[in-house]
Amino acid sequence: MKEFGYTIIKQRTIDYDQFNGRLLNEILLMEPSFKVCLSCGGCTATCSAGDLVNFNIRRMNLLLRRGETAELESEIQKCMLCGKCMLVCPRGINLRNVIMLIKKNISRNKTTKY
Ligand code: SF4
Ligand code: SF4
Repeated sequence: MKEFGYTIIKQRTIDYDQFNGRLLNEILLMEPSFKVCLSCGGCTATCSAGDLVNFNIRRMNLLLRRGETAELESEIQKCMLCGKCMLVCPRGINLRNVIMLIKKNISRNKTTKY
């Protein structure tokens, strides 16, 4: 392996041998509108839960796409399902349904590593 003189800390690395994309694939199948998310952050900026507690829905999106289900499972509980994020989404994504699907399906898609 080439030595660059620095390393990435363990918490910032993704072990793709452990990557679990099952939950993401299921969500995309059940809510195809989520495919066109451009990570603009509009949902995060307007999020009701984000005003009250430390909650970032764009980060939830990233955790889902990385298969980091353990952290996602605890964090997603902070969403109040108010649907405000959907009002500002430029892609018209049914984010509320995405969140409900995550909550419903995450327990049987957990990985041991994350
Ligand atoms: S507002 Fe819509 S397109 Fe933008 S990050 Fe949120 S879900 Fe994705
Ligand atoms: S539905 Fe959840 S993620 Fe969307 S604005 Fe409401 S609390 Fe935030």
